Amino acid sequence: MTIAILVMLGIGATCGIILSVASKVFYVWEDPRIAEVEYFMAGANCGGCGFAGCGAAAVGVVEGKAGPGVCVVADAEAAINIAGVMGVDPGTAEPLKSLNSCSGGDRADDKFIYNGAMTCAAMTALYGGQRVCSIGCMGMGDCVKSCQFDAIHMGPQGFPVIDEFKCVGCGACETACPKGLISVKTMSQRLLVFNQEDHALAPCQQTCPAEIDIPKYIRLIKEGDYEGAVNTIRERNPLLLSCGRVCPHPCEDFCRRGIEDEAVSINQLKRFVADYEMNSGRRYPIACAPDTGKKVAIIGGGPAGVSCAYFLRRLGHHPTIYDAMPKLGGITRYGIPEYRLPDKVLDWEIEGILNLGIDVHYNTRLGEDFTIQSLRDEGYDAIFMGIGAWKDYTLGIKGEDLNGITQGINFLSTMAVAPDKKVPVGKRAAVVGGGNSAIDCVRSLLRLGCEEVYIVYRRTRKEMPANEVEIVASEHEGIKFQFLAAPTRVIDDGQGNVKGLEYLQMKLGEPDASGRRRPVPIEGSETILDVDMVISAISQQPDIGFMEGEPDKENITITRWKTFDNDPETLQCSVPYLFTGGDVATGPSLVVDAIGGGRRAARSIHQYITGEEIKGSPKSLLKRHIPESLFETVPGVVKSKRTPMPELPVAERIESMIEVDLVITEADAKHESSRCLDCCRLCYNPDQQDQNAA
Ligand SMILES: Cc1cc2nc3c(=O)[nH]c(=O)nc-3n(C[C@H](O)[C@H](O)[C@H](O)COP(=O)(O)OP(=O)(O)OC[C@H]3O[C@@H](n4cnc5c(N)ncnc54)[C@H](O)[C@@H]3O)c2cc1C
Repeated sequence: MTIAILVMLGIGATCGIILSVASKVFYVWEDPRIAEVEYFMAGANCGGCGFAGCGAAAVGVVEGKAGPGVCVVADAEAAINIAGVMGVDPGTAEPLKSLNSCSGGDRADDKFIYNGAMTCAAMTALYGGQRVCSIGCMGMGDCVKSCQFDAIHMGPQGFPVIDEFKCVGCGACETACPKGLISVKTMSQRLLVFNQEDHALAPCQQTCPAEIDIPKYIRLIKEGDYEGAVNTIRERNPLLLSCGRVCPHPCEDFCRRGIEDEAVSINQLKRFVADYEMNSGRRYPIACAPDTGKKVAIIGGGPAGVSCAYFLRRLGHHPTIYDAMPKLGGITRYGIPEYRLPDKVLDWEIEGILNLGIDVHYNTRLGEDFTIQSLRDEGYDAIFMGIGAWKDYTLGIKGEDLNGITQGINFLSTMAVAPDKKVPVGKRAAVVGGGNSAIDCVRSLLRLGCEEVYIVYRRTRKEMPANEVEIVASEHEGIKFQFLAAPTRVIDDGQGNVKGLEYLQMKLGEPDASGRRRPVPIEGSETILDVDMVISAISQQPDIGFMEGEPDKENITITRWKTFDNDPETLQCSVPYLFTGGDVATGPSLVVDAIGGGRRAARSIHQYITGEEIKGSPKSLLKRHIPESLFETVPGVVKSKRTPMPELPVAERIESMIEVDLVITEADAKHESSRCLDCCRLCYNPDQQDQNAA
């Protein structure tokens, strides 16, 4: 018995020694970060990340084979925590979401009917697709079948609809779609996308300088999802309240419905949802990527600067705006009058953008309070130049220094900051010019009590560059138009005051470089307009006097129009740290152009400060149109009236600075949104229209 016990103890001791030696010999060290990383994963072991379970995914992260956002089930916070464990840039921690770019599907005609291999992949491989549309969705649902998370279903139009809340961004649908219509992207990646030739785009979206997904937001309005519509617009344009009021909507010129009927009133729909949010008393949340710690200085807080700051902030960077004026908005505040864009609307819009975490230095002028170089010395990673074009051209005629003559921007900006917007004006005034500035001056003069107001323009109404709707409004308000008239002299009353404006009558000759017919003077046709006030509003150029004091001025290229030269695709200037957009780069243009410029610049700045190659979008559309989208006829459209813009009656509106253009009703928004054909390049939905309203 004793022997048996001793033998057992001996065997036990021997095993213990062997095991203890083996544990030293075969010891495998495990990186403690693996357990920490796995702790932050969802623990679903779903395999959606491409690894065989969470443990393997954690090993993948630690070994650098996967990023901190590898877990497709966990949320962004988990990814940020994992990034913290790994000590890597949390910018990569944004969740991925699927995005379907084709809203077509069963609307494009069938090339043939085939009931054999009913999968998108087989259909594409065997026949190049079943429908005449070569770019759109095949509608057979390979993506739906591939989704393990029940996040995609076939919508009523026969194209996939993605449930963003259920989507975990695993990428299975992206792999399953043989047409490349589904892409899995983070919010930042979406913000950085630009319209390209191979995108499924409607002609309106191709035309919009801000590249807004117009059919999508109109569809959401039709469905009553106003928050979704606002978010869709905000993915491309942060100034929707402003644009909804002042944009001349070039998109509507290419609305396919306009070929057979009247264009959809796209901009009024934008204004409707923008106002809906403002009046709802709740700001819809705006997502920003995790902080990157990169700092960007933005010079000028007009539409270009604000837009650039907004997109940079959403991409996780830290923009700081420097502006010469006490408030932001640029020309939308200090040029466009209150009756078109009220201060309180602009204040609300800009406040929402600054709330994202954008710093501002007000009353701080480049050239006086700082230089481009001093910003570099402060450690900014990049600089955006967006100071607009505020220097009025002068007429260059005799008498321009008399009392009673001023320039457009000077007049409008003085009025913008005056108490109750009131400034002294003459009894009879002439405004020289045919653009938005000139129209804003004449309509303001009327509201300030001027009895007789003239536009003096050297071409005809047809060539006027001002927004058509503004020209019509000024005609209704009683402005007098003196076309084909080129001022030659301001007449002195003998005491240094304006007594009249002399002009030469013109006739139109051959077209000039701008394509407009050149005005040619008619000799001996001098005519005098009896006025006591003259405003010259014949366009502006950037005021770049500050360049004299810039240490790096030799390397910064300025064009002969006093604009900052830049690469037209990346908007990078001749020095790598400087980017520019808006009027200071293009010369006087539109708010929506400045917004698009701000976003393009933000994209390039993002590339620059994150060390990526700075390059524009391949095959970027900019303003070129894809020929297929230019239909000549649109069969199947039943005519239905375009919603007219509600406005204050003339007698009421010219008495004050009260806003003239009103917002359409919800019922009208429903009607107008149902007029949208929901087009893509080759297809459209004639049956989507509101039959009741025909
Ligand atoms: C009277 C008028 C009416 C218009 N109406 C329309 C319209 O109805 N629809 C439309 O689409 N477009 C309209 N436009 C054009 C449109 O307003 C401009 O294209 C747009 O505002 C350009 O935006 P931006 O950011 O480039 O420049 P701006 O709007 O000019 O902003 C430039 C900013 O830079 C700041 N700044 C300037 N110099 C300095 C400096 N030295 N240091 C620091 N900050 C500085 C300014 O204070 C300003 O905030 C109009 C233009 C004018 C002049």
